[in-house]
Amino acid sequence: MTSYQKTGNADELIRQIGELKQERDALILAHNYQRPEVQDIADHTGDSLELSRIAARAREAVIVFCGVQFMAETAAILCPEKTVLLPVREAGCPLADTATAGQVRQMREQYPDAVVVAYVNTSAEVKAESDICCTSANAVEIVRSVNAGRPIIFVSDRNLGHYAAHMARRRVILWDGACPTHAGLSVADIRQAKKDHPKTKVMAHPECRPEVLELMDRVAGTAGMLAYAVEEVPGTAFIVGTDIGLIHRLQKENPDKVFYPATDYLVCPTMKLTTLEDVMRSLENMEHVVKLEESIRVKARSALDAMLAV
Ligand code: SF4
Repeated sequence: MTSYQKTGNADELIRQIGELKQERDALILAHNYQRPEVQDIADHTGDSLELSRIAARAREAVIVFCGVQFMAETAAILCPEKTVLLPVREAGCPLADTATAGQVRQMREQYPDAVVVAYVNTSAEVKAESDICCTSANAVEIVRSVNAGRPIIFVSDRNLGHYAAHMARRRVILWDGACPTHAGLSVADIRQAKKDHPKTKVMAHPECRPEVLELMDRVAGTAGMLAYAVEEVPGTAFIVGTDIGLIHRLQKENPDKVFYPATDYLVCPTMKLTTLEDVMRSLENMEHVVKLEESIRVKARSALDAMLAV
């Protein structure tokens, strides 16, 4: 339990965050998987790329990125003139950690003709070694856009890479990485959830395993799931196969619909590290500033730009 909850001073803490935000000329961004109370104080909530684009367009000098390391780095790649803060330095991504720049260079030596497609869930160094980035929303399109004569190395999530290859009908060399949260969802979990909540629509993130995705009415990243919820008629119930943090936003934006987590353990632990106190401390002490070597930033930017051009 956080200290403001213990003392009942949540309103006071939120007021102070608001004041400091003005003083620092800061914008607070929160990923869809953040704790509900952090999402509620953010200026914008969204997926990692959506938030980075907002950061790039923002007039504020400081961006407080409530998410994990690679997300704050992506914002810093896209807006070098701003100060990007990650409230909890240790908030990493086990999936992004499966790939290093050195390993990508080794793969390139093994497949010299290959095009390296890097999922945004990778470090800035890995992006800098890649030709083009992708998100869960555009992975199929990006894989399809690669010249048919060239092999594709897909870094970092093997399930998303498998899904994109299948949908784009392309052969892809898959990285051996997976998101522990999404890859943990099983067919048995989905069957149980359907039994517990009959007559529901089922959706899941493409980082889930292929056999789980086969059971879905819709496979989509978080933005796609939000759009799917809006498409359906009032009264529709959904089983949601992604981090439970998204349910807060789904329910808030669709009060006439019902959302059930596919299992109770669909929780990314590092996404839940950031508390309101951390946001406050981050603004107070201007910590933790994301710093990137300029040569890495420029190369990583070019992989992101290549994606935006598709
Ligand atoms: Fe990384 Fe998975 Fe957590 Fe996203 S949900 S930050 S991919 S571990």
